[in-house]
Amino acid sequence: MSENKIPYKIYLEESEMPKQWYNMRADMKNKPAPLLNPATLKPLTAEELIPIFCEELVKQELDETTPFVDIPQEIQEYYKTYRPSPTMRAYHLEKALGTPAKIYYKFEGNNTSGSHKLNSALAQAYYAKKQGLKGVTTETGAGQWGTALSMACSYFDLDCKVFMVKVSYEQKPFRREVMRTYGANVTPSPSMTTEVGKKILAEHPGTTGSLGCAISEAVEVATKSEGYRYVLGSVLNQVLLHQSVIGLETKIALDKYNITPDIIIGCAGGGSNLGGLIAPFMGEKLRGEKDYRFIAVEPASCPSFTRGKFAYDFCDTGMICPLAKMYTLGSGFMPSPNHAGGLRFHGMSSTLSQLYHDGFMEAVAVEQTQVFEAAEQFARTEGILPAPESSHAIRAAIDEALKCKETGEEKTILFGLTGTGYFDMYAYEAFHDGTMTDYIPTEEDLAQGFAGIPKFPGNEI
Ligand SMILES: *Cc1c(COP(=O)(O)O)cnc(C)c1O
Repeated sequence: MSENKIPYKIYLEESEMPKQWYNMRADMKNKPAPLLNPATLKPLTAEELIPIFCEELVKQELDETTPFVDIPQEIQEYYKTYRPSPTMRAYHLEKALGTPAKIYYKFEGNNTSGSHKLNSALAQAYYAKKQGLKGVTTETGAGQWGTALSMACSYFDLDCKVFMVKVSYEQKPFRREVMRTYGANVTPSPSMTTEVGKKILAEHPGTTGSLGCAISEAVEVATKSEGYRYVLGSVLNQVLLHQSVIGLETKIALDKYNITPDIIIGCAGGGSNLGGLIAPFMGEKLRGEKDYRFIAVEPASCPSFTRGKFAYDFCDTGMICPLAKMYTLGSGFMPSPNHAGGLRFHGMSSTLSQLYHDGFMEAVAVEQTQVFEAAEQFARTEGILPAPESSHAIRAAIDEALKCKETGEEKTILFGLTGTGYFDMYAYEAFHDGTMTDYIPTEEDLAQGFAGIPKFPGNEI
């Protein structure tokens, strides 16, 4: 073993942690298209957004020119309770694969919420408190975002109302109880507590819910309750901004050892971890300083990038949210019920959508049984039990490493390991029992979703 061997874990000192977030949009020539008011089809102004979102977050959402934003000291103090997160070298996985590739991963699962989502939850709760609000509302699917937000709200003494997709509420009682431990109020969605919930239940009596429904309910409660605002755990520009801490830390760690990744891979649900991980590297690419390959990995059962349309669409099923221009499957699209692996949102961050559209990024879709094969191989070699979402990135990283084995190329691969899978054991069980199946939507399934994309001049699909 040579003396300058790269360590298994590259840690940073607290003093080396980023003190600013990085806003990729500042370096994009083609900026992401603005959010539109669905009633007027005009770009949303700060005044229109302020009744829904916290003021400072609205400012961040609309700011496409400031490259660096100071991380408030209080947020830094909470970041220090679980960050810096380690940048790991996957020596054992490399050996098992017999690949000449060097594989690194940034591990974001080392906090109680079990994922990267706490990075933005802390920021959003902090700004809500600073504005003097009583509380926030949100939706959660698998439960990671709800958990992260519950933690952040307990730190900043804010009320937290979570609408949890009904199927997850029933299948993941432990997640629900973690949220309640941190003081959150958790309601299965769709519910009879909101107008939009009642309407959805009347139209689809047996529905087990979707993220889109839960968003509609959370927004309704936020806008109708004094002192409340709505917060979202992914998709929005502000969330990508906060998540840039992932990529900034990774870059500092890799730079210490003069490591330059050739390929950077992340799973893509709404795009926040991927946008965060790639941020400083994409900045270099956008400024023409360096080149990297970026790969977004999505489930074949919810293929927004690889089979979606680039168009203005609703972010929620109830169609009360702003329109965002993004790769979308249509707000009515629901992944097949046998899809266990998360990443089930119908749309995608408008920033990442624009970057993908302009050829700065690639995307692949992978089937869930192959995702769980990769998850298991990773667990058995590297020890960490990965979240199904994260395992999409593992799958793609392994596939790239196996290509290197064929060609003999010693590429450096970096991927985001966004979280742990302790609450996903039903999905692992289905995989182990051989009852997990793959479902790839047919063209007809997709056409149904596309039919719900709003039609107006300039938004032809
Ligand atoms: C929420 C989540 C994702 C997907 O969300 P993005 O916004 O696309 O990052 C991925 N991994 C884990 C563990 C998550 O909790």
